[in-house]
Amino acid sequence: MKIGHLINGELVDEGVAYQDVFNPALGEAVKQVSLASPATVEQAISAAEAAFPAWRNIPAVKRARIMFRFKELLEQHSERICQLIGEEHGKIAHDAAGELQRGIENVEYACAAPELLKGEFSRNVGPDIDSWSEFQALGVVAGITPFNFPVMVPLWMFPMAVVCGNCFVLKPSERDPSASLYIAQLALEAGLPPGVLNVVNGSKTAVDAILSDSRVKAVSFVGSTPVAESIYATATAYGKRCQALGGAKNHAIVMPDADLDNAVSQLLGAAFGSSGERCMALSVAVAVGDSTADALVDKLQQAMQDIKVGAYTDSSNSFGPVITREHQQKIFGHIASAQQQGASIVVDGREIRVPGYEQGFFVGGTLIDKVTPDMSSYCAEIFGPVLQVVRVDTMEQAMALIDQHEYGNGTCIFTRDGEAARFFADNIQVGMVGINIPLPVPVAYHSFGGWKRSLFGDLHAYGPDAVRFYTKRKTVTQRWPSAGVREGTSFSMPTMK
Ligand code: NAD
Repeated sequence: MKIGHLINGELVDEGVAYQDVFNPALGEAVKQVSLASPATVEQAISAAEAAFPAWRNIPAVKRARIMFRFKELLEQHSERICQLIGEEHGKIAHDAAGELQRGIENVEYACAAPELLKGEFSRNVGPDIDSWSEFQALGVVAGITPFNFPVMVPLWMFPMAVVCGNCFVLKPSERDPSASLYIAQLALEAGLPPGVLNVVNGSKTAVDAILSDSRVKAVSFVGSTPVAESIYATATAYGKRCQALGGAKNHAIVMPDADLDNAVSQLLGAAFGSSGERCMALSVAVAVGDSTADALVDKLQQAMQDIKVGAYTDSSNSFGPVITREHQQKIFGHIASAQQQGASIVVDGREIRVPGYEQGFFVGGTLIDKVTPDMSSYCAEIFGPVLQVVRVDTMEQAMALIDQHEYGNGTCIFTRDGEAARFFADNIQVGMVGINIPLPVPVAYHSFGGWKRSLFGDLHAYGPDAVRFYTKRKTVTQRWPSAGVREGTSFSMPTMK
């Protein structure tokens, strides 16, 4: 089966270059995705450009009604969407349903467009003068998305972009493109006119064609940090607005006074859910004090015996395979390097065998103790089901460790001490903070984004920041003089003095 593009409301495929799409549980190529050439990307941008003048003039309330319908279609077709996610990404149905629900919440937020785009008005800023600010659409905008959330991350972007009056070109991950394409088709079925939302599948060539086209006014990117950094540099060099969200290394501090059983169950889900392939995955537990660390490792080791790894079809599984064979081998390499550099492998996921899925790209849950900040496994984003424990003596040392790490996406503290928690939240150099909450992914009506090398750009994804990102402010100052009132010429700066 071949997966093409969605341009101007039509499924198209130039049929030149393809890449295999795998079912990672089977370890087999099951489909092929078309890799768009610059000419195909050009067609998508032209379709978006042509649709823009009419679309921007449709009242926001009518654009929002399409989003209401889109939400209903996403819910109606949730089983199919989760199946597509499972087949190509590998995440278990219950986790795919969570991804979809988080995406739907962004569509719900987009339904508030008439309220969000209301603007600001001041009457009588001067004699007979009124002034208002309005938020106008940018034109053609683009989104480039990662493999790990093939539905949720596109839904962070295009609903808000189009409801603000823009036309959109989406470039999903080439590793699991079907679910992204399918939800775009549902958005058209909901009533988006042809050309308002286009999908081009492909790789770097397609991305480069988007970045270099002057008709694309803004780019939202989510993916790994090296690519995010390069996309931000290129897009802004071409004069585009850009937000580029990158990788992460999320630490949880476990304080001596924490409810340890709660911390263990929360850590398990946040470290191993979705095979650790979440940018908010908790991959480092920083235990304060050796007795906390000993108890934590002991309880984690016991609890990990209940983890069940397998294919997406069995909802009793905790998590599925990782995305590719290369990624599986890379994760194994990180475990081996931690071992070589002196860490202690408490639970080793390298030897996992899943009956019936012997060729699948599985990695079992892995727990590594006595990890130190100089180890390469500590520095890198492993993006797999690997939880590393670092031991420190004080909360200050734990916070310094987090602040010194190049990434600053998410973090969390487990404690019963409100003063410590407040100090942590106030001072830690990380964009999204949890207090006894392991995955502090903001809800749709807040915005999502990390600090340091986890985000390049000024505005975060979705929520209120998305309204600002996908619009430009225009401020109009207007005078309708009252009868007989005329102002003379003034060469001074106008003031209200
Ligand atoms: P990736 O950077 O490999 O790919 C992301 C997108 O960029 C894909 O669409 C891909 O086709 C494209 N791409 C890849 N290489 C490119 C290049 N050289 N030039 C131009 N485009 C290129 O990321 P991935 O492996 O798909 O996703 C995993 C990464 O995404 C992890 O690092 C994870 O932390 C990060 N992520 C971050 C967030 C966040 O919100 N900060 C959310 C999800 C994932």
